[in-house]
Parts: sequence; C-alpha cells; structure tokens
Amino acid sequence: MTREDAQGLDLADPLARFRDAFDLPSGVIYLDGNSLGPPPLSAHERLERVSRREWGEGLVRSWNSAHWIEAPQRVGGKIARLIGAQANEVAVADATSVNLFKLAAGALSLRPGRTTILSETGNFPTDLYALQGLVALLGDRARLKTVAPEDLVAAIDADTAVVVLTHIHYKSARRWDLPALTAAAHAKGALMLWDLCHTAGAVAVDLNAAQADLAVGCGYKYLNGGPGAPAFLFVAECHQAAIVSPLWGWMGHAEPFAFEDGYRPASDIRGLITGTPPILGLAALEAGLDLQLEADPALVEAKGLALANLFIARVEAAAADPALGLAGPRDAAARGLHVSFTHPEGYAIVQAMMARGIVGDFRAPDIARFGFSPLFLSYAEVWDAARALADILAARAWDRPEFRVRAAVT
Ligand SMILES: *Cc1c(COP(=O)(O)O)cnc(C)c1O
Repeated sequence: MTREDAQGLDLADPLARFRDAFDLPSGVIYLDGNSLGPPPLSAHERLERVSRREWGEGLVRSWNSAHWIEAPQRVGGKIARLIGAQANEVAVADATSVNLFKLAAGALSLRPGRTTILSETGNFPTDLYALQGLVALLGDRARLKTVAPEDLVAAIDADTAVVVLTHIHYKSARRWDLPALTAAAHAKGALMLWDLCHTAGAVAVDLNAAQADLAVGCGYKYLNGGPGAPAFLFVAECHQAAIVSPLWGWMGHAEPFAFEDGYRPASDIRGLITGTPPILGLAALEAGLDLQLEADPALVEAKGLALANLFIARVEAAAADPALGLAGPRDAAARGLHVSFTHPEGYAIVQAMMARGIVGDFRAPDIARFGFSPLFLSYAEVWDAARALADILAARAWDRPEFRVRAAVT
C-alpha cells in the first residue's frame, strides 16, 4: 500500500469526522490512546460547566439538582450499550483494581464451598495483585491458581469459583474467545469475570449474549475519560440480589440517607458501590462516552483492526531488523487494537519515535507498544508512523544515550 492508498482510505472513512472532536496537539501522531485517551473537546466544556456552575453555584444542592447522585448508574448505563449489557447492570466507581477485588470476592460469595480463583500467568499485574491481596485476606477460604493460557480451560474444575481473564491482553493484544470461555467456566459451575480494559470502546462484545456474569474495565483508555477516570463494573442482573461486596459503605446501602447503624446492601448494582462518586471524573468520562456512542461499534472495531494491520504490514515490509518480532497473533480476529513488537532495544525505540512526535509506550522487558484508536487516527498517520519506525530501525536512530534514560512511567 502506498501513502496515496492510505489517504484514499481516509477519504472513504466513515469515522474520519470524529478527529475534529478531539483536542490533539498538532505535529503528534498519538498511538497511545490505549493507555490514556486524548481529551474530547466536549470534556473541556463539560468540566468547566460542572466545576463553575454545578459545583461553584449549585454547591451541595447539585447532588440533587444536577443529578450527581445518579451519575454512577447513568454513566454506567452508557457503558452498558458498548458491552452488550442492560443499563441496570453497569455502574461507574473506583479504579479497575478495586472493582476487580470487589467482584472476585463477590464471585466467591456466589459460589460457597468453592475456593479457587483461576487466572492466567502474565495477566495484567494489577489484576493478579488484587487477587493475591484478596486470597491473603481470606486465608483458607480462597486460593489463587494461575496457569498458562493454553492450559486454562483444562484447569477449570469443581473447586473453581471464578475464572478471571483479561479479554484483550495488554501486551500481546491476544483476544480470548469471550463466549467460549464463559461457556467453559459455566460448564464446570464456575463464574466468569472479564477485565475489559482494552476492550470497551475498541472491540465489540456482547456480555448478555455470552451470559457473562461479571466484568470490570477502565474509563481512561479507549473511552477517553481522562487521567484516573473512574472505572466500571458489570454484574449480570441474575446475580445482583445475591452477590456480596467485600467493601461496605454508605453508597452501597439500600437507603444511604436513612443513616442507619447497620449495613443493609442495596439489592441492585448500587450494592457494589462503596463511597461518594467522583463527580469531576464522571463528568469527563461521560463526555467521552457521549462521543463514543455516536460511532457504530462495528465500524470502530473494523477500522482499529485495519489500522493495526496496516501498521504491521508496513513495518514488516520496510523494516529489515531481524531483532524485531511481532508479539501476539497475526490474525485480526484473534487480537485487539494495539500492536506490540518485541525488540531488545524496545525502550530506546519508543523514545526515538517520541522524538519524532510519534507517541507509543514501552512494556518491560522488551515490548514497544502502539495503540490504534479508531476515532482520531487516520490511515495516513499510521502509514507515516510505520515508515518512521522502519527508518529508526534501519538507521539505528534509537542508539543514543538519552533514549536509554528510563522515565518513571514508561
Ligand atoms: C489499564 C488496566 C488496568 C488499570 O487498573 P487501574 O486500577 O484502573 O489502574 C487494569 N487491568 C488491565 C488489564 C488494564 O489494562
């Protein structure tokens, strides 16, 4: 494909109009929307309004008059439309790590007598840490078992309470077959808890069609909710009355403003909420969601995969460095919207790309990772980024001391 071909794809791209809805600096090709999505212009306006009018003028009255108190469920209901859930099955709260902890504990409460939480080795670290923390707290009542992905289905047994998997792997972009794995867990009487951090806003999933039980995901990646945006949690309606949250707080109480001494959980999705909702974060996230919901999810996924495929093909055609390897599956149906290349100088390569205005990220020990957010990237940009990567490899332009200085966040 030539650059003119890429420009031709942009002219025919039904999602091209979304680019102007984002506040992106000129001269930057942003291939890291899978780590922190850029601000929608509407998020600036929304934050300004919430801060000045709702907070500044409305003050505490805005919990009612500006509908702050309903925001976790209202915004959750918008996420529900992206993941094939009912509006009453999703709430926005806390960080993904906290939600994973709550729902894994909740899964144990739904499967009394079973003690195993099953996950895969190499899962996103915070997921494993949250589960390790949970089993440390529960002593003999729970254990965490991690196995290689190829051994996972066979490892589900009669003691498995819940299988915890990340739908799209943060490094390799490998995509689990969500309906098949959910069915495999159910066949052994276990529940399925999905982490949708690299899925929501990127790849279409239908949790209800798969009869998924539980899910979590974050708001600041493809949903463009802003740095530290609150995360979401999904609990299938059939589990909501019985699931027990391990973190009790007034916002999960059936009647928070009855101010009773004893905890009495709400029997709906609110039972999984603990404390006061982060209204500023919710406001920015809602702006990102309102934009996302204007786009057809099938087109979003198709364009993201096409961009990723274009990048892989162009890099492999132009780069003659034998040390460069594609991490994860080549087949688009088996991957998400980011592309990772392994290279022993991965960190320096990412820095050399940044020096040319192309932003990706690095995942230790050797992964240069590039994300292809479909709403604001063009085919021509991806063509240019692939060209730059190939040039950097050919000229060993990464081989400079300043590109080896590690920042705190990679
Ligand atoms: C980004 C990401 C997280 C983030 O967790 P936070 O608690 O929101 O920081 C968790 N899991 C996966 C798989 C991720 O990709």
